[in-house]
Amino acid sequence: MTARFELVVGAASALIDGVFRPAWVGITGGLVAAISDRPLEGSSEVTLAEDEVLLPGLVDTHVHINEPGRTEWEGFASATRAAAAGGVTTLIDMPLNSIPTTTTVDALEIKRRSAADTAIVDVGFWGGAVPQNLGRLRELHDAGVFGFKAFLAPSGVDEFDHLDAAQLEQALEEIAGFGGLLIVHAEDPGVLDAHANAGGTDYHRFVESRPDEAEVTAIERVIAGVRRTGARAHILHLSSAAALPALREARAEGLPITVETCPHYLAISEEQVPDGGTQFKCCPPIRGDANRDALWQALLDGDIDIVVTDHSPSTAALKFAHDGDFGLAWGGIAGLQTGLAAVWTEAARRGIPLERVIGWMATGPADFAGLGAKGLIAVGAAADLIAFAPQATFTVHASELLHKNPVSAYDGRELGGVVRRTWLAGHPVSVSADAASGGTLLSRP
Ligand SMILES: [Zn+2]
Repeated sequence: MTARFELVVGAASALIDGVFRPAWVGITGGLVAAISDRPLEGSSEVTLAEDEVLLPGLVDTHVHINEPGRTEWEGFASATRAAAAGGVTTLIDMPLNSIPTTTTVDALEIKRRSAADTAIVDVGFWGGAVPQNLGRLRELHDAGVFGFKAFLAPSGVDEFDHLDAAQLEQALEEIAGFGGLLIVHAEDPGVLDAHANAGGTDYHRFVESRPDEAEVTAIERVIAGVRRTGARAHILHLSSAAALPALREARAEGLPITVETCPHYLAISEEQVPDGGTQFKCCPPIRGDANRDALWQALLDGDIDIVVTDHSPSTAALKFAHDGDFGLAWGGIAGLQTGLAAVWTEAARRGIPLERVIGWMATGPADFAGLGAKGLIAVGAAADLIAFAPQATFTVHASELLHKNPVSAYDGRELGGVVRRTWLAGHPVSVSADAASGGTLLSRP
């Protein structure tokens, strides 16, 4: 007598407990109810193609969806379709560049309403820690944000101010008081000011304007603040490998600091960025080849915990308006749909197995966000799954990607690894424009 499941997905190769093996996954009520090495019976049954593997859906904890306020840059409908097409089944939205910014409970409710009817993957929210709401962070924490984002240098938009050194200390102290989490854009404004240049189309000049030292100095300040306050902190989008020794030491000391990097820092290096190629502009910047090698080594060594996209698009006009002037173009790279393929292509080239990549892009980010029932295929876990063809290749065409504006740092590049199907809570996800919203709004568990 075998149980009959709502859906059974069979795969010659499924990632379970960190290894690939043949499996039939039985799903009921949105959860994985059974995993077997023999066929299971389902009301609906799917068998993956021979070149496909079954993976957990990715969890992307760094996504900028600019709705409302800058919906022409990116909105929940387009971003979550790009996510599903790229294998991301859960994302956490950043508190800027929407208007209002997510720095009050009212603004959080506005964000939730914007997402509720349009998101086709699961969506949670970060709050912001800005000078104006220090002392009142607890309200947002209690309202369910996953933590608080702060900038230590100007954010790029007027309505989200950065914290100075004293305010950073204040935020950390306040957050430590309720066991929260501060996630930090760590570049030092003094170092940035000292290296400011006239901009222009020369990419190397742009990198020089945001040197390693800016990240190192800011990260050392975060480490010192964590040591004094005991708050939990997370370094966003680490670009500079020069900051790794300080982070390694802090973590060895037992300080509660986690670290992420992003697909574009792993898949692209300065040497590949053409002059005037503002589709590659992001802050902190994509650095040189040796730096990139060091980031990969830090991932392998466990000194960097996770890889998330920092999907941060704008309109094509803002990205390209000033004839390739890196000083003036919007800084941000769209990565939701291409992140997995970009990282996997480069990992494969370096002989790094797919299971490590999924650890960095699914299991690790889920754990980081406290979403332990996501990011893995296990009995009792969410039935958020993807069918992935690791050997298949495709050429990126920015105009075919599903995020709102047709700009991509990978435009024209051939990448390996194709997401063929996505399931959210056991339901196949359709990315067609008229597909009903199927995502759940998540609060910090
Ligand atoms: Zn960001």
